[in-house]
This record gives sequence, structure tokens and C-alpha cells, in this order.
Amino acid sequence: MSTFQELGLNDLLLQGITDLGFETPSEVQEKAIPILLNEETDLVALAQTGTGKTAAFGFPMLQKIDVDSRTTQGLILSPTRELCLQIANEMKAYGKHLKGLNVVAIYGGSSITDQAREVKRGAQIIVATPGRMKDMISRRLVDITKIQYSVLDEADEMLNMGFKEDITDILSGTPDDKNTWLFSATMPKEVARIAKNFMVEPQEITVGHKNESTSNVSHEYYLVNARDRYQALKRLADANPDIFSVVFCRTKRDTQKVAENLIEDGYSAGALHGDLSQNQRDIVMKQFRTRQIRMLVATDVAARGIDVDDVTHVINYQLSDEIETYTHRSGRTGRAGKTGVSMVIVSKSEVRRLKSIERIINKKFELKEIPNGMEICEVQLMSLANKIHNTEINHEIDKYLEEINGLFEDTSKDELIKKFFSVEFTRFFNYYQKAKDLNVAAGDPNREGRTSSGNAARYFINVGEKDGFDWMKLKDFLKEQLGLGRDDVFKVDCKDTFSFFNTEKEHQEKVLAFFTDFKYNGRFVNVEITEDKPNRGGRGRGRSGGGRRRDGDKRRGDRRSSGRNNERRGRRSEGSNDNRGDRRRNNDDNSKSRSRRSDGGDRDKSEFKTTHSRPRRSRR
Ligand code: ADP
Ligand code: MG
Repeated sequence: MSTFQELGLNDLLLQGITDLGFETPSEVQEKAIPILLNEETDLVALAQTGTGKTAAFGFPMLQKIDVDSRTTQGLILSPTRELCLQIANEMKAYGKHLKGLNVVAIYGGSSITDQAREVKRGAQIIVATPGRMKDMISRRLVDITKIQYSVLDEADEMLNMGFKEDITDILSGTPDDKNTWLFSATMPKEVARIAKNFMVEPQEITVGHKNESTSNVSHEYYLVNARDRYQALKRLADANPDIFSVVFCRTKRDTQKVAENLIEDGYSAGALHGDLSQNQRDIVMKQFRTRQIRMLVATDVAARGIDVDDVTHVINYQLSDEIETYTHRSGRTGRAGKTGVSMVIVSKSEVRRLKSIERIINKKFELKEIPNGMEICEVQLMSLANKIHNTEINHEIDKYLEEINGLFEDTSKDELIKKFFSVEFTRFFNYYQKAKDLNVAAGDPNREGRTSSGNAARYFINVGEKDGFDWMKLKDFLKEQLGLGRDDVFKVDCKDTFSFFNTEKEHQEKVLAFFTDFKYNGRFVNVEITEDKPNRGGRGRGRSGGGRRRDGDKRRGDRRSSGRNNERRGRRSEGSNDNRGDRRRNNDDNSKSRSRRSDGGDRDKSEFKTTHSRPRRSRR
């Protein structure tokens, strides 16, 4: 592995790299930067999202342009406004120490005259969407006749979005001897054709599928009836209290609807799609980046390339029609060395499509179960307990202590804890105790035998992600420790500080015996039976016992009409200092008032056409 210095970058850029905290070049950077620095050549680079393509073309371009000149020398075309802004910001950060550098982003939906003014001040590099770029050229607001370097970023996506003609027109107005660098995640025929028609003997580099970011992602699917999709989504969110996710839908309409429903149900969600105005999309993205929105519901186009770190889950609410899209979606998580989960909610008729995806990602999907009500209550309770445990005391409270203590004079610590937790727990419990099983039996006879024979034991174990596990590692660990076979430990769900897993009942005694006296990292590991799933639809009894109705599962507690209200009451308040009452009022206020306004000047042929509606407030 080489260093950035060895790739031939100059000191000013190396300073920028140090400021950014980049330590080693990524694979595509390692391959592309020396070529682009040392040769005047065209280049085709194939690499997945999240592999660091911006820097791969950005650093060479920055090193090669003349910042003392005010002529536009570099042009970067990219499919969406979000990407334009993102690339422009990255370029500015990379070139922070280059005095006089001026990078300008131009895209539809913002004032064209403002952008023209910025260009006029002397932009050495322009980052543009094809639609707006063409507009500016035809109005003679930009001069790209002296371009030396042009980049087609996310070329496959630009072509998908119908920008082919615009790109052709734009490039025809640039010098023949410029260099063109094309970056793409895939190489469909149209991209190959562009390369052939517009490039001269391009060098080619391909970055292997198995880059670090994608191998950190585990792929899971959940089999439900199509009508239960939304309920399943909510449960997945509830079962992961610290979720920070992108939820993908197929259409703008579904995207908007799912986001609205989530907001109404008390989740911190927001929609991102092309029917929103530019301004609204900016607001949503900002809220997402600052974690005010924890579930970003998005279309593929709107979310393409968006680079937000620490996304814990990608949820495929619906699969896209094009299977290739899946890799872009799952690439939103597991970035920067973190692990991530890509979940797919499918109905039986869609299950076959997973096979095709598996061939592309070269990985297997694991069938997982939508957690049942008690499991969610348990997760929420433990999450709350951990949060309280880790909360720093706010001494502003001290002055009220006397009064509070007076109130609880006769309450024991034990009782106090129970009461305290009941405040949260009861709301969840009330909602979920009647919730039905959403899982549909899979076609896999192996699994089905297991779950419907009633022969499985489910365990709670007090190790989790905090101990360095994910479900795969934990599964391996358990199998190894217990000396069990390949498929003997299953349905492993790894949470923050604890996890669940199943074995056949026949192993139960062995499992419990093993963990009576077992230490991991110096801590006693506690394993308890949490619930057996006698058959699908059977409600487990929680470890908390508590005489719940055995027939609970037959009642459709998830029904939309009543369910939603219950759910509202039952919603968690992670980040619990929020003001739930206010939030709900805001949501209600905004939810029905949608105005339209037209979007002058945005000719991008993306889904970003007309705009409407004010952004919906998400909770803060
Ligand atoms: P792509 O265009 O391939 O999807 P980006 O260029 O957007 O990927 O890069 C993804 C993220 O990785 C960005 O946040 C970027 O700042 C970061 N990044 C890029 N190169 C490096 C590197 N060598 N070391 C650490 N982080 C990097
Ligand atoms: Mg990119």
C-alpha cells in the first residue's frame, strides 16, 4: 500500500489530506491518481459508491490546474444537485491550501444569475448537473472552450436519468485535446458507447467488488405479506433503538407516503425525492446529517451517492426494479470501516429476486424474523436502562431533590426502578402485547421445520455489539464455544449490549449449563431462555413473565386504524428529552398543508422536476 505522498501529490494537497484525516489512499485512488498525475490520458474507472472516487479525480485535477489563472479548466458533471454540492465541497476541502482556488457548483433550482456571477469571478473548476450546464452554455454564461479536464461522475446514473444528449452537447463544445475521466459504478452499453465516442484510448481501472465498505455490510431479508410491509418497517425500527437509516422506496409517491406515516407515528423521519423543492431537499439532508432525522425515506435517484457516515441500517422497503440498484443502496451503510446492515422487506412473490442480487453482491442473504412484540419491548427496555446508566447527571436537578425525595420517602429502590421503567415500558407493552406475528413461512424446508416444529429454544445473552460482536461473529462464537454444528445456532440478533439466539430444544440444557460459569472479557456471561416460538404466530412469554394472554396473536393489534393510535402512544422516546407533544402538533400542522410552486430554470431531466410542499417538520 502506498501513501498519498508516494502517489505524487504536492505538499499543499498533502496538507489538505492531513487536515481531512485521510491516512491511506483507497484502492481507486491508489490506481487512478498516479495515472492522472503523470499522463495526459483519458480514463475509465469502475468502482462502487463509497470507494473514494471524488478524491481519485479531485486531487489530480487540483494539482494540474493553474490556480493563478481565472480560466475554467476543469469541468465535473454529476447527476444530481446533492452530488454537485457534495463534490464541490469536497474539492474545496481538498484544495483548502491552494490560494486563489475557486470551485463553483451549478445546478438547477437555484438562481442562475447568482451562479453565473460566481463563475464570472473566475472559477477554475465547475461542478455541474448536465441540465443546468447546458442552459448556462446556451445563455453564454459559462465558457468551457478552454477546459483541459472533464469528469463524468456517476456516468451510469447520468445516462439512466436521460442526460445523454445534454452530455453530448456539452462535451462537443470543449477542446478536442482535453482529457476525459469517466467514473461509474457499472458499465452498461451506453457508458461503453460514451467512452468509445468521446474518449481517446482511455486507460481502464476496475476496483474489485469486495472493497472494505461493502464487506462490512451484512444482508438480511424479512418475509412478510405485502400488506404488512409498513408494520414490519416500524418493528425493525423499534427493534433497533439507535437506528440511523436510509429507507428506500420505489416511487416518489411511496417515499412521501411512508415518510408521512412514520412522522405521524412519532418517528423522526423525513422524505427525500425529486418532487420536493431544492430547498426542501437541502433542509431534509441537513436534518439527516445532524441526526434530527433518523429515518431518511428516499428514492434511489435522490439518494444516489449521498455520503453520510454512520448509517446503521439500509432498509429496502421495496426492492428496485433494477437489481443493480441494490449495491448502491447497501453501499450507504458500512462506510469508513464501520459495520452496517442492509435489510430487505419482501413478500413471497419477490423472494426469487434476491437470488439475482446475491449473484451480484457475491454474498448470501440471511433470512431473519421480524421481531415480535415482546422482543421489541425487551430491546427498548434494555436500551433505556443503558441510556440511563450512561447519562451524566445534570445538577440543575439538585434543588428539586428534596421535594422529589419527599415524594418517594416510602418507596424502595427496587420499587422506584420498576416504576421508573414502567413509564416507558407500559406504553410499548400495551401496544405490542397484542401485535401479531408478521412473518410469513419461508419456502425453505430446513427453516420451516425448525420454526414450526416448536423445537427451538430462544435465548437472551448479555453480550452484544459493545463487545465487538455482530450477528455473524456471535453465531460463530456460540457455535465454537458450545461445540455445535454449522446450523445449530440460528436467528442470531445482535443488539448493542445484548443479543438473542436460537438453538434446537435438545441443546438447551447444554447451552444453559455452559453459560452458568463463563466469562467473556472478564465479565460473567448471562444466558437465559427468553421465549420459545412454538410456531409462527405464537407469542412468546417474556422473561418478565407477566401472565399475558395466550390468544394475543390472533387479535390483529397491528390493524391500521387502531394500531396507529396505539402506536403513537406507544412510541419510544429515544433521545427522550424531546418534547413529544410539540413535535406531534407540528407534524399535524404541516401534514395537510401542501402548496405548489413552480421551479423556474431547473431543466435537469432528473426526477427533480416540479416542486411542491413545505418540508414537514421532523422532531428535534
Ligand atoms: P464515491 O464517490 O466513490 O461514492 P466519495 O468520494 O464520496 O466516494 O468518498 C466517500 C467518503 O470517503 C467521503 O466521506 C470521503 O471524504 C471519504 N474518503 C475518501 N477517500 C478517503 C481516504 N483515502 N481515507 C479516508 N476517507 C476517505
Ligand atoms: Mg461520488
